[in-house]
Amino acid sequence: MKKVLRREKSGYALGLILCVAGLILLAVVLWKAWLHASVSQFVLEDLWSYLWTEQLDFAFGVGFKLIYFTMLGVLLIVFGTVTLALSQKGFTLSGETVMLTCPYCKNHWKTSRAKGWAECPHCRQFIQPQVTKRS
Ligand SMILES: [Zn+2]
Repeated sequence: MKKVLRREKSGYALGLILCVAGLILLAVVLWKAWLHASVSQFVLEDLWSYLWTEQLDFAFGVGFKLIYFTMLGVLLIVFGTVTLALSQKGFTLSGETVMLTCPYCKNHWKTSRAKGWAECPHCRQFIQPQVTKRS
């Protein structure tokens, strides 16, 4: 149970990191485009060709065209969002079916997840249920 929770947390962190990295990449591209816009007659139709022609030096003279940075940024955000969505989904899925016991009437019933408080479907008491079995 603890392991599952930790994995979901790291998935959440990974998704967040991917999104932030993608946003930073897009911000860099936008910044370059903004600098370009301030020195020339910049129109929106020009942006596409500019992305394809302008190189951004990466390291050691290795340059990539801005379009690749844009694509990478979008990809990172997409992957990050998917990872976030999956870790979020994992959270609701981890609320597996549990067997609860009412401390008053000792009846058992199944519920989708363990809640702090629940109403006993047998005696209608508002109780703090005891989890007897996880399935
Ligand atoms: Zn009861």
